[in-house]
Amino acid sequence: MNLTHGESVTFKNVEKYYNKTVAVKDFNLDIKSSEFLTLLGPSGSGKTTVLNMIAGFIQQSSGSILIGKNSIENLPTEKRNVGMVFQSYSLFPHMNIFENVAFPLKMRNEDKKIIKEKVSYALNLVNLDGVESRKPNELSGGQRQRIAFARAIVFKPKVLLMDEPLGALDLKLREKMQIEIKNYHKEINCTIIYVTHDQGEALTLSDRIVIMNKGKIVQIDNPKNIYDNPLSKFAANFIGESNILNIDSLKLDKSNINYENKKFISIRPEKLKLVEKNFSQANDQIILNLKIYQIIFLGDFIKYICNDENNNTIILKKAKIDNENNFNISDNINVYFDISECSLLKE
Ligand code: ADP
Repeated sequence: MNLTHGESVTFKNVEKYYNKTVAVKDFNLDIKSSEFLTLLGPSGSGKTTVLNMIAGFIQQSSGSILIGKNSIENLPTEKRNVGMVFQSYSLFPHMNIFENVAFPLKMRNEDKKIIKEKVSYALNLVNLDGVESRKPNELSGGQRQRIAFARAIVFKPKVLLMDEPLGALDLKLREKMQIEIKNYHKEINCTIIYVTHDQGEALTLSDRIVIMNKGKIVQIDNPKNIYDNPLSKFAANFIGESNILNIDSLKLDKSNINYENKKFISIRPEKLKLVEKNFSQANDQIILNLKIYQIIFLGDFIKYICNDENNNTIILKKAKIDNENNFNISDNINVYFDISECSLLKE
């Protein structure tokens, strides 16, 4: 049984207020059909509010939301063809697994035989055929989350909303489930809108990431561009680690690059290279003189936390196999980076 293609979801100038609290503001977004899009941001940035407006649990204060070509303002939740998976699983404890997964189909008055077929397909997709007669409390956390997923997609939704679905699982299981969710998406091919505050999860899963802060979109791009080209301090610090330096504090040849309106540069810790004996500095390279004040062993990497001459904290990350990594706390080291490898930030 092949599940359906996804629908696009469009936000036009959407805002949501709770009395005077702004939950979502100036929200314009085109989510493509069958895209895996992640809303990423700190707690309170408006992610769940966006999902709830798509689901129809809350109504926007202004602006419009479309699924495909149709405005959904006046459609009740059950007519929107949207599936949902929550962190808390929300399985019905008194029903067995078959009844749980069959529930959305029963609500839609599907024929018994079709219900059986569709439940069997959904359980097979999440690799849990055989548990039909068990109750949710007889399953592990990961298994319960798979069942919640099966229940959300069993009626072939065009759009699937997932709100921190892996938040209750431990790290190893979370990473395993991320790969599974990616595989499910390939198979069912619906549009997935995923909410997380975990940047690693967002990078692993998404076609595109929307970084949110205080109800607004900060940046939208694919994982590689978001990581390589953050546009603001917020984005640079929220995804991965960044060293942020004031442009005015650097000795830069400003003739070649347009630095207009740009106040800071951001350079990733792994882009800093050690100055070797015969190093001769090129025009587009910046040297930093650092003093190490902390060394953190990360298994495959070693992280050196340093101060530069202006007392900025600078993080340097080196693969463990480098021989040069045998530094100690209080050592002075010189590192350099290429201007082409850093991002210019306005704010
Ligand atoms: P996130 O999912 O990113 O943690 P939310 O969408 O839950 O953020 O919340 C966004 C903002 O809206 C927060 O400031 C939150 O306090 C506020 N908010 C959310 N729901 C309500 C509500 N029912 N009443 C009042 N304020 C709310």
